[in-house]
Amino acid sequence: MHDIIVAGAGPGGTTAAKNLARRGFSVLILEKNPIPRDKPCGGWITPSVLELIEWDEKKLDEIFWSPIKGLSIYSPSLFSFTMKREKILSYGILREQFDHALLTDALSEGATVNADEAVKNVIVKDEKVIVQTKKNDYTCRLIIGADGTRSKVAECTKVRPAWTSSEIVLDLVSETKVPKKMIRDFYKDDLAFIFYNKGGGYNWIYPKINQKYDDACVNIGVGCQLSKIKNSRQMYQEHVQNLKQINLLPESITLAKSTGWTYATLLGPKKRTYGDRVLLVGDAGGFSSNIAGEGIRTAIITGKLAAESISSVPDFSKTSLKSYEKAWKRLLKTEYDIGKVLQQTLTREMDSIDNILKKLRDDIQGQEDLVKLLIASDDLAEVFGRLARKLL
Ligand SMILES: Cc1cc2nc3c(=O)[nH]c(=O)nc-3n(C[C@H](O)[C@H](O)[C@H](O)COP(=O)(O)OP(=O)(O)OC[C@H]3O[C@@H](n4cnc5c(N)ncnc54)[C@H](O)[C@@H]3O)c2cc1C
Repeated sequence: MHDIIVAGAGPGGTTAAKNLARRGFSVLILEKNPIPRDKPCGGWITPSVLELIEWDEKKLDEIFWSPIKGLSIYSPSLFSFTMKREKILSYGILREQFDHALLTDALSEGATVNADEAVKNVIVKDEKVIVQTKKNDYTCRLIIGADGTRSKVAECTKVRPAWTSSEIVLDLVSETKVPKKMIRDFYKDDLAFIFYNKGGGYNWIYPKINQKYDDACVNIGVGCQLSKIKNSRQMYQEHVQNLKQINLLPESITLAKSTGWTYATLLGPKKRTYGDRVLLVGDAGGFSSNIAGEGIRTAIITGKLAAESISSVPDFSKTSLKSYEKAWKRLLKTEYDIGKVLQQTLTREMDSIDNILKKLRDDIQGQEDLVKLLIASDDLAEVFGRLARKLL
């Protein structure tokens, strides 16, 4: 019997596994896909993640690409302004590389992984959990559901209900290798670009460059509430055309195939993220930030908090594991509460988003606050209060 089984080797699962193995728990990770595995993503990582992952300079240099120091924001009518900062706003990563490095950390602390082995069923008994895959039945004392938005663990244990189409976002994203020269020619000043849509949601283009390894790519995506999308391929094509029109993409570029992916990033987590002998972390629990869709940071935070709770409770009953929910609420509840207000306001005021953004054109403090909001800075409540008084 394992102490803990973790379903899913994304950032949430591997962070939980690393922190548990380090504390002496026997940990088995079951991952549906062969590893290393890729994941459709923008690959935007805010600086606070650096403190959470404990990597040395060499590893950071290898895996953290292109520090971004500014954002160009476009309204639906393509009115735009650019916010620049001295401090780094974000780094670019490639998910295959980043996620594999996190998995390697977990394995070096003593966790084990079975790749290409999906969890098919979870049965919680009084004294243990039975975890079934096509190849095997495993037993453990507790299971962590880190198996993404469509979590099998959440479904089998009924910790939370399934998401409805108005609770999730559908994204379409492509990541295309390009010559480094193209990045220098088209995207000066270390900028990323965000486009707000009239129908809700936002699109992006995110250039990434790795100076050391002579690699570069552009990450292009569109995203919108699933229930509002009529034709996601068309949305993506229109975004690409817009980018060409405003000279953010060369006419002749051949883009990599785009991939669709859903995730619950509109409301924050549902009411319950724990049950008898089970915890949900990362996207399985709906932890992606509902301010800017950032889910890697919150997966890592909840993975870490899950490990801390597991190692500090007397038993794995629902009553004891409530400490996990209390812990993530202390750190993240303000962010989700602000995100909810923001989502409601954006839905209501979609027609006036042009006007809202125009108000910020010459307002340096307002722009700085918007950046802080998007990267979930630590004075979030204050920042949001200031912006709301100005803009809403
Ligand atoms: C298009 C797009 C762009 C995004 N851009 C960003 C961004 O730029 N920055 C950011 O911070 N966040 C971004 N996000 C969100 C981010 O990708 C997720 O929030 C993050 O990956 C969550 O990590 P996780 O470990 O919870 O889940 P995941 O990374 O999804 O990992 C879950 C793992 O579980 C495995 N799995 C699934 N089912 C099973 C099963 N039954 N048994 C075993 N294993 C299973 C999967 O194969 C996967 O490896 C984006 C999301 C999308 C869709």
